[in-house]
Amino acid sequence: MISFIDFSKIHNEIKNEIDAVIQNVINENAFVFGRYLQEFENNFANKLGVKHCIGVNNGTDAIAIALKAAGIKPGDEVITSANSFVATAGAIVQIGAKPVFVDHDEYYGIDTSLIEKAITERTKAVIPVHLYGQACNISEVVNICKKHKLLLIEDAAQSHFSKYKNQFTGTFGDAACYSFYPSKNLGAFGDGGAIVTNNDNLANKIRLYINHGSTQKYKHIEIGINSRLDGLQAAILNVKLKYIDKWNKQRLEAALLYNQLLKDCDLIEVPKIREQATHIFHLYVIKCHKRDQLQGYLKSKNIQTGIHYPEAIPFLTAYKYLNYNPKMLPISYENQSKILSLPISPGIREENIRLVVESVKHFYNDLK
Ligand SMILES: *Cc1c(COP(=O)(O)O)cnc(C)c1O
Repeated sequence: MISFIDFSKIHNEIKNEIDAVIQNVINENAFVFGRYLQEFENNFANKLGVKHCIGVNNGTDAIAIALKAAGIKPGDEVITSANSFVATAGAIVQIGAKPVFVDHDEYYGIDTSLIEKAITERTKAVIPVHLYGQACNISEVVNICKKHKLLLIEDAAQSHFSKYKNQFTGTFGDAACYSFYPSKNLGAFGDGGAIVTNNDNLANKIRLYINHGSTQKYKHIEIGINSRLDGLQAAILNVKLKYIDKWNKQRLEAALLYNQLLKDCDLIEVPKIREQATHIFHLYVIKCHKRDQLQGYLKSKNIQTGIHYPEAIPFLTAYKYLNYNPKMLPISYENQSKILSLPISPGIREENIRLVVESVKHFYNDLK
């Protein structure tokens, strides 16, 4: 069996370190706030080169909280990418705002040539997604947001330490939102998320809001919510953070090998790497002919694959009320039936990559 994601290798490698920090958290009762959270927030912010990192409960909360703290109000419009995990839009709706969807470019990032056409007088923010681990054309998004005075929140849930023009994704906008869901490149042992920003005022508002409107016990100066990153998760993430560069590099190497081995297969389009982007391959997504049959064939060979995502957000049942149709988002719509995510995780064995590729080629040879 070739699993879609296999973390056993990396978790075995760091098992002793993880076990030790879990014991420390228990011994020190550092479950909520405490030094492990503080260390992680500092380490994560320092590694990115930003002033503030605020741990929250999950990546979806991170987006909703960032929007809310930045002053986005019910009825405001927020432009985002049609092809993303549903959470990007869910967070916008959660605070009462309206998602406005834009199609994507050949690298699965928001098509920046379409953003200005989507701007109305109600538009207040743009949330581009660095999907699959690759930067979108974020420099251009920055320009558009500056020109139209729009808030820029990066959805960096799939792009921990990927780069564009030698700058980390997550450091271009007013704030960026991270998820530490277990399968993300930097994954906790449960839910987790963070918001990063260089804006002191925004960071203070977020810190207040996520802890019932208080920074001092029982002094609630505002109405807030409870969304915090657990001490246990922070301690685990602290350990994993030391290895993330290595793991990201291993993912990239795996992807480059896939690209090389699949390049002569003309019924497949391998993922393209944007110029000046450092892709960290959260997902390795090909576009292929007869996708469902190929997926079924690979399954019969004990190779797990995924589809990210089977339906673009505006075409999901929950978002039908916004009345998008395929003609409005042709690329996202067309890709729904073509994209396939092949197994990738740090340390995936070369022989497994070769096996997947052989099976893919075998499937297409049998078609001929
Ligand atoms: C995972 C993910 C989220 C949400 O993160 P959770 O921690 O699962 O709430 C948001 N956006 C994108 C692009 C994601 O991949």
